Amino acid sequence: MKNRVIAIDGPSGAGKSTIAKGIGKRMGFLHVDSGSLYRIMTLAAIKAGIDCNDEAAVAAGCDKVDVRFVVKDGAVAALVEGKEPGDAIRTAEINAHVSPVSKVPEVRERINIWLRGMRELGDIVVEGRDIGSVVFPDTPARFFLNASAEARAIRRHLEEVAKGIATQTVEEVKASLLNRDKIDSSRKTAPLKIPEGAIVIDSTNLSIEEVLDIVEKNARAAFGI
Ligand code: C5P
Repeated sequence: MKNRVIAIDGPSGAGKSTIAKGIGKRMGFLHVDSGSLYRIMTLAAIKAGIDCNDEAAVAAGCDKVDVRFVVKDGAVAALVEGKEPGDAIRTAEINAHVSPVSKVPEVRERINIWLRGMRELGDIVVEGRDIGSVVFPDTPARFFLNASAEARAIRRHLEEVAKGIATQTVEEVKASLLNRDKIDSSRKTAPLKIPEGAIVIDSTNLSIEEVLDIVEKNARAAFGI
């Protein structure tokens, strides 16, 4: 039998990481953060002096990024030139450039091959924008997490404060994530959308435990486990 996949899609700051990590722990699935792979491609493009809005240059450069994967602490971690990139992929500069890079079909194809390969490592819970619609449309456990723009901006800002990497006000974070949502939802290849048949959860007024309970119950039912 093929290993199982839980797909968790949704806009920026909807709580996908918290929920995907929590479900991974509860159910023994490896956590996969597909957004970090788009961020890695963006950092590599910037470091190589590539203009992130130049699709042809981004497409040509994306093959050269040296990425390997290891299983670590219940997650699939990406090593770039042998090292974890850490918070270097979570800066305001990366936030501003990641959506244009993510529009490039060659970037998406390369990342999709990586993601599909991770299923060989074990059962996985994958968060992203197109996981249930494009990357693993065959999985019966598909979720779409959402929350109001205000709630999403406040959560992101607090996360950045906790990590000591906050450089923007809540209003600036909100503008940045709404801008990314707009580009992500309107792009031609694999736009952010609710996958067919996905369970939609609005987490604005729900606790983390409440969302985890909904996802776990439905995922177990989908797999019959
Ligand atoms: O989830 P995160 O905010 O880290 O994602 C960063 C960006 O990566 C998104 O705004 C989107 O442009 C892109 N992305 C994507 N498809 C995915 C995951 C992320 O296009 N599956």
